[in-house]
Amino acid sequence: MPKLVPVPDDLSQPFWDAVNERRLVVQHCKACGTLQYPPRAKCQDCQSEDYDWQQTSGKGHILSAATLMDSHLATMAQDQPHNIALVTLDDEPRINFFANLTGLKPEEVPIGAAVEVTFEEVAPGRLVHDWKLIEG
Ligand SMILES: [Zn+2]
Repeated sequence: MPKLVPVPDDLSQPFWDAVNERRLVVQHCKACGTLQYPPRAKCQDCQSEDYDWQQTSGKGHILSAATLMDSHLATMAQDQPHNIALVTLDDEPRINFFANLTGLKPEEVPIGAAVEVTFEEVAPGRLVHDWKLIEG
């Protein structure tokens, strides 16, 4: 399947730079300590624009899952049906990521299971993150 290559903007560039180094980072508000993702220009809690990026544990849990049976995106059609699971980050449960959980059948996606981030090269030097079940 032709993979979608992310197109970073000014706000998300540091996130994708970290992904390229196999690190998962989120915004960290220096004023109130809030962690947030996706990146925003201001803190969601205190509106501060003073933030840096903090590396996460890369660990999470599956919150819910759905199965995409009929995408209108032609490039995704070969991979169907495929999973879209929602992962909640252990470092900050308010942060969610989407996960494909490649290799799992839709009915095999265990809600509540522990997952960890994984990285896949989709173009030379360009990585994207996904999630996989933690064995055991
Ligand atoms: Zn804040």
